[in-house]
Amino acid sequence: MGAKGDVFVISAPSGSGKTTICRRLLQEIDRLELSISYTTRRLKEGEQEGLDYFFVDQPEFDKMMNYKEFLESASVYGNSYGTARKTVQSIIDRGNDALLEIDVQGGCNIKQAMPEAVLVAIFPPSWQTLRTRLFGRGRDSKEEMDARLAAARKEMLVLLGYDYLVVNDDLDLAVSNVSRIIHAHRHRCERAGSVIRSILFQPGEE
Ligand code: 5GP
Repeated sequence: MGAKGDVFVISAPSGSGKTTICRRLLQEIDRLELSISYTTRRLKEGEQEGLDYFFVDQPEFDKMMNYKEFLESASVYGNSYGTARKTVQSIIDRGNDALLEIDVQGGCNIKQAMPEAVLVAIFPPSWQTLRTRLFGRGRDSKEEMDARLAAARKEMLVLLGYDYLVVNDDLDLAVSNVSRIIHAHRHRCERAGSVIRSILFQPGEE
């Protein structure tokens, strides 16, 4: 049996380009799989069941909670989100790496449950850029924006406790930096155990 895969968590305040970075990582890195979360929020246009999320109602989500099926769960903007234990387990058991695109509360809970998980925070290059990216979407009122900016500041303070921090100024560079973190972790001696054993301890060798 090969070594188990690793768990990589990516979190960021909204407007930091986290989703774009994750999409690129999944396209560019082999054996990296997205952990598809469960959520009670409504499916948005362009999203697909089982591809973006597993969309469930609150009673079903609560049932999963009661059966302790989530590795972590959180309430984000009034909706419930959760990472299923079996989703992550099946990815890493196959020797692939799991990519969890989740919020900062979720990241901290994953670290408690799995201290070996690698947490990567994505930051915007400046406060002004974050404001522009958020306002640029033109979806929210001024009050909503102020609330989102205050939430972003709070999240960023907690994100400082993550293992790595990548600034998304230039998208290609940010993707490449996160990719290097993932590849570096794949080369830990601990993970190379089966290769090392096959080289050093060939049966029957003098
Ligand atoms: P959205 O509804 O925009 O897709 O996601 C809202 C927030 O919830 C994002 O920050 C996203 O990363 C986070 N999120 C998505 N899935 C999970 C999950 O399983 N657990 C947690 N804690 N956060 C999640």
